[in-house]
Amino acid sequence: MPQTINPTDINSTSLVGIVIAVQANFCQVQIDPATPMVGGKLILCTRRARLQKIGISAIVGDRVTIDEIDWHGLKGVVIDVFPRHSLLDRPPVANADRILLVFALAEPALDPFLMSKFLVKAESTGLQVSLCLNKSDLVTDIEKQDWCDRLSEWGYQPIVISVETGLGVKELQLELDRQITVFAGHSGVGKSSLTNALIPDSNIRVAAVSGKLSRGRHTTRHVQLFTMPTGGLIADTPGFNQPDLSCSPTELPGYFPEIRQRLATAHCQFGDCTHRDEPNCVVRGEWERYPHYLDFLADSIAWEQQLQSQPKLENSLKQKSGTGTKKYEPKLESKYRQISRHTILQSLAELSEELDDR
Ligand code: GDP
Ligand code: ZN
Repeated sequence: MPQTINPTDINSTSLVGIVIAVQANFCQVQIDPATPMVGGKLILCTRRARLQKIGISAIVGDRVTIDEIDWHGLKGVVIDVFPRHSLLDRPPVANADRILLVFALAEPALDPFLMSKFLVKAESTGLQVSLCLNKSDLVTDIEKQDWCDRLSEWGYQPIVISVETGLGVKELQLELDRQITVFAGHSGVGKSSLTNALIPDSNIRVAAVSGKLSRGRHTTRHVQLFTMPTGGLIADTPGFNQPDLSCSPTELPGYFPEIRQRLATAHCQFGDCTHRDEPNCVVRGEWERYPHYLDFLADSIAWEQQLQSQPKLENSLKQKSGTGTKKYEPKLESKYRQISRHTILQSLAELSEELDDR
């Protein structure tokens, strides 16, 4: 890449890029890596007034068109935002493809119930869910294999790594190529260590929007995308606490691969079976996470009842159409509804509360 860029060498002044950081009215846009000469450059942008007027905001992960680029100051203006194929509201990330849940095989010990909660919450986003087991250096091969076998019964193929020894880190990097991946998992499992291992050039991580955007424990409220050398993007999210499940009882079964698999080949007698004590239920059974399902079902019933008894809360939700049963989902802000019909409503941070002080 040349040191100085001559604008006349660039065919068009309007270019496409991805928003990698946002603060106040500014966003840092990384020009599409495939763009000749300037691919990968970071441009500090404001939003065109027209976009502001019609309430279109650019959030991290948005693909945008930028114009009026000042190549000396590396500044520009966002003139358009592409439709989103997914949207997480907390943390606000557009176009994420996958959630990578990071757990540790030891220190802290794996807790199947907590893991299940994270998995269900992650499934509720509608994104691809992947599971990564870190700190494999702390357990025996047999323990590792046991966990892999167990999780495979749950419907997941975990990626086993050790940031400490480097085992599996390169493979993970390749797996996340050409995608936007949101990392989640409770603190202490090695998420920060993993992010650092995946993005060796720490300079890339600190966008020049402002000092406040730089990475740090006190800046966890800002989401930022980091580019791996292989091209994949990681949403660096804060430490996550215990996920809180807030979904309706009718949605819950869809968040268990084991249930999806059972219902793909057979039917319960009742169409609205809760898979608890109804006769001729094909879901109820001896599978390992069935007790987790029952536990979460009780939570989701309580959650729904609470919603129904709180008119104010209900007012902020809309009823899902065409479901027959009463199902609610959060109302999207109109700006999001205008932009994409394929929005994903669940949030990752409901999945967990930010730890203010880790
Ligand atoms: P986070 O809270 O999830 O971001 O976790 P950190 O990245 O801060 O890591 C928590 C602790 O685990 C630190 O002391 C790391 O050095 C340690 N750690 C991270 N990865 C590994 C690993 O693969 N093996 C071992 N033994 N320790 C690790
Ligand atoms: Zn059933």
